[in-house]
Amino acid sequence: MERTRKPVVRGWFTEDDGAEGGFRLLGTRCTACGSVFFPREDAYCRDPRCAGGGELAEVPLSPRGRVWSYTDGRYRPPAPYVSDPAAPWEPYTLVAVELEAERMVVLGQTVPGVGVGDLAVGMEVEVVPGVLDQDADTTWTTWRFRPVAGQR
Ligand SMILES: [Zn+2]
Repeated sequence: MERTRKPVVRGWFTEDDGAEGGFRLLGTRCTACGSVFFPREDAYCRDPRCAGGGELAEVPLSPRGRVWSYTDGRYRPPAPYVSDPAAPWEPYTLVAVELEAERMVVLGQTVPGVGVGDLAVGMEVEVVPGVLDQDADTTWTTWRFRPVAGQR
């Protein structure tokens, strides 16, 4: 049976992989001061320098950025972290990516197979669609970061 693809968090990234411009994270931009927020801020501008009064418009974020920092999680965190102790712990690699145009850092996991040994600060990475989890009828989609080919 075909699983339904559902975003882990609705509105944080494009759901149509074939969308114009490709897969993108979605943030919001204050029309008054130009500040960009991710995770998206839909209530009010959080920039303390902003005079206010602007609307928050959805904007796709830059498809590429540079590695700002990274780490991995090889062990199950202690309580109060919630996880199923019977399920195998799957190591993951977390990367902080600086988006130059937005002047912000966003977090995400790398694509499967890319670990800390494959990353370096300043390396260019791109955002790609990924799968977080799946059950009998749903594939939960997310975003991942992948080094741009042809570096080093
Ligand atoms: Zn603002």
